[in-house]
Amino acid sequence: MPESTTFELLEEVKSLRQRVAELERQQAEGNRSKADDLACQYFNLAGEMIIGLDANQTISLINERGCQLLEAEESEIIGKNWFDHFLPDSNREEVRDLFRKLIQGDLMPVEYFENVVQTAHGSLKSIAWHNSLLKDDSDRIIGTLSVGVDITARKETEQALRESNQMFRQISENIKELFWVCSPDWSEVFYASHMYEVIWGNTCQSLYDDPRSWMNSLHPDDRDLIEREIKTKSTGELFNPDFPRFRIIHRDGSIRWMLARAFPVFDENNQMTRIVGIGEDITRRKQEEDAAIELHQELERCVEERTSELARKTAQLQAMFNAIPDAVLVLNRDGVVVNFNSQQKSILILSTDLRIGSRIESLLPGEVGNQVKALISRVEDTRQIETIDYCLVNRGENRWYRARVLPYLSDEILMVIEDINHRKLAELELSTLHEKLSEAQRLSHIGSWEWNLQDNMIWWSDEVYRIFGVKKECFVLNYESFLQTIHPDDRPQVAQTVEQALEHDLPYSIEHRIFRPDGEIRYVQERAVLKKNAAGEAISMHGTVQDLTERHEAARTAQEYRDILAHASRLAVMGELTAGISHELNQPLTAIANYTAAMKQQLVQGRDVTDLVQKIEELSLRSGEIVRKLKSMAEKRTQQSILFNIRDSIRNALELIQYELRHHQIEVKINCDSKFSAVYADRVQIEQVLANLFINAVEAMIDTPIPRTLTITVSPAEDSLIRVVIADTGSGVPADFVDHLFTPFTTNKKGGLGIGLSLSRSLVEAAGGRICFSSNSKPGACFHLFLPTRQSVQ
Ligand code: ADP
Repeated sequence: MPESTTFELLEEVKSLRQRVAELERQQAEGNRSKADDLACQYFNLAGEMIIGLDANQTISLINERGCQLLEAEESEIIGKNWFDHFLPDSNREEVRDLFRKLIQGDLMPVEYFENVVQTAHGSLKSIAWHNSLLKDDSDRIIGTLSVGVDITARKETEQALRESNQMFRQISENIKELFWVCSPDWSEVFYASHMYEVIWGNTCQSLYDDPRSWMNSLHPDDRDLIEREIKTKSTGELFNPDFPRFRIIHRDGSIRWMLARAFPVFDENNQMTRIVGIGEDITRRKQEEDAAIELHQELERCVEERTSELARKTAQLQAMFNAIPDAVLVLNRDGVVVNFNSQQKSILILSTDLRIGSRIESLLPGEVGNQVKALISRVEDTRQIETIDYCLVNRGENRWYRARVLPYLSDEILMVIEDINHRKLAELELSTLHEKLSEAQRLSHIGSWEWNLQDNMIWWSDEVYRIFGVKKECFVLNYESFLQTIHPDDRPQVAQTVEQALEHDLPYSIEHRIFRPDGEIRYVQERAVLKKNAAGEAISMHGTVQDLTERHEAARTAQEYRDILAHASRLAVMGELTAGISHELNQPLTAIANYTAAMKQQLVQGRDVTDLVQKIEELSLRSGEIVRKLKSMAEKRTQQSILFNIRDSIRNALELIQYELRHHQIEVKINCDSKFSAVYADRVQIEQVLANLFINAVEAMIDTPIPRTLTITVSPAEDSLIRVVIADTGSGVPADFVDHLFTPFTTNKKGGLGIGLSLSRSLVEAAGGRICFSSNSKPGACFHLFLPTRQSVQ
């Protein structure tokens, strides 16, 4: 060991010095030559460098060991300046200065002195010096004698030890693991790195003071285990270095997981001298491991769940696949079957057995098989679904099938075969029905339409297109284009009716005109209802359009005939009334003649005739009025409806028969509330009807005893109608004739035409009213006339 070598050296130097002193003494005592020899002998045999310097720094003496150390021959050394030749630049002047002071006696020689020398070859060596002063007889310092020991190797060892020590500290202080050194029985801790403080929360010093104190922090559940382990490891056998994982409770209360290992250290005698160990705080790793384990378990559970779910779904899918009512075949690119469901047998009607590996063209008869094969290759190219309907003979009857070919996986095709026999037959039946319906619509001039309110799409049957005179292929059909076809005068009313139907869910029936593209005007009747879904929302409107143009034409012609007949009838009535009318006219004319004669006389007498002139004027006007009314009755005219007062018309009609009423002493009673007397009809025609009814009443009362009363009552009736009741006290209508009253040309009268009542009914109905007989009036007859109060809306 370096320490013991130095010590020995010192001892040696001491003895050397004693020897030198002895030599000096012997010299003094005159035994100098003998002593010289001995000294010389020792000088060269000495294991250390011995060097003598004189006061001027020159080497005066060097032994063999010294030559070896300085790597030069004695002759090359002796006489050289020691400092200039054998000290490096780094310390040369410093040491030289010390030497000077030593020589001058300013400094006492130091017992032990180290410095670096430089050999003749330039290498540096560390030398430990023991210096002594050489004095002459007068005790003057003449030089030095130094014994030098080469301590280069020791220095290097020390340096290496220092470095490794430093390295050890640096490592142990900087690693995250705890590092410790303790005695074999764990009773003494020599070293513990600072991680002890981090992990345990206690100071290292506390551990040095109480080496077992670290065990106080052991988790109670792990304490026994660790104590057992330490006991085992203390035996010093070659043990397993690992400790089981254990927990310690940090000073702050947190639990830390530890992983530790301990190793025995043996000396040269194989005695265990130390135990070194490392410990690692694996709390985080443990948590991560636990989390990973938990995650792993969770994943495994998930995978298990998914696997069983997948298995269930697969089973479900398989069951569904087999339960599909259609036959499903999975084919590869070559049309070879790779999978199929269990419905195939009932659907496919195969002559050969269907197997995986069957070719599709072999499963379907000739032409169909080829068509399907072509379809498959088309689907492969386009990746679009293709459909084909085909008919096969099954149990002696033709059945229809539909094959849908659709792209499946990248190299597979799915073919779904469906039995569409019922549907196909229904389609055929439907198409026949459709044709029949179209034909029926064409014959009846009734078209049907549907308006889908959700997507605002309108569908018209062919007959609607025909009625509207437009071609399906060049007419953009929507609600707006439909409105444009309507006659401008009717358009607002139609639009309003449709809006009301949509708003209030009202079915409607409306008559309006349409303008065909060729300019022709046609009359149509539209009927429509709203359709709602379960939630009560209007989803569509369905309706019909009926071409009424021909009916309108017929009605117009009928009206013309009616007008002619009415005219004839009026002329007939006038004929009947000739006597009365001529009487009525004669009366004012006779009076005018009388007044004129009287006026002449009075003028001759020079009297005032103003009074007479006024009377003549009144009578002239009255005559003119009668003539005007007769003229209007006799006029040929067409029907023209207006709003007028029924009371005035009653009076006008009564006026025509004024003579008859007076002549037959018939009393007329009119009950009329002026609030309900406006009606909407053709005034002349209604007056004609009233005149007919009054004349019939008069004629029925001619032979009946007085009092004779004609009662006319006007009152409101339901449905915006006005009721005019004409009751007489005449002979009445025989029960067996009641049903024939309104039959044309049926009369009970001598010279009667039998058209009065029938014409009256047609005139009243043309005006939107009605007429009926009531037998309630006893005695006599009673007719009820209902007339509209406003223009009828259809
Ligand atoms: P005409 O008066 O020319 O016979 P009408 O059609 O006016 O033709 O009348 C048909 C018949 O109805 C009459 O012939 C008459 O017998 C009967 N009739 C009509 N009104 C009355 C009435 N108020 N009372 C009794 N019979 C009536």
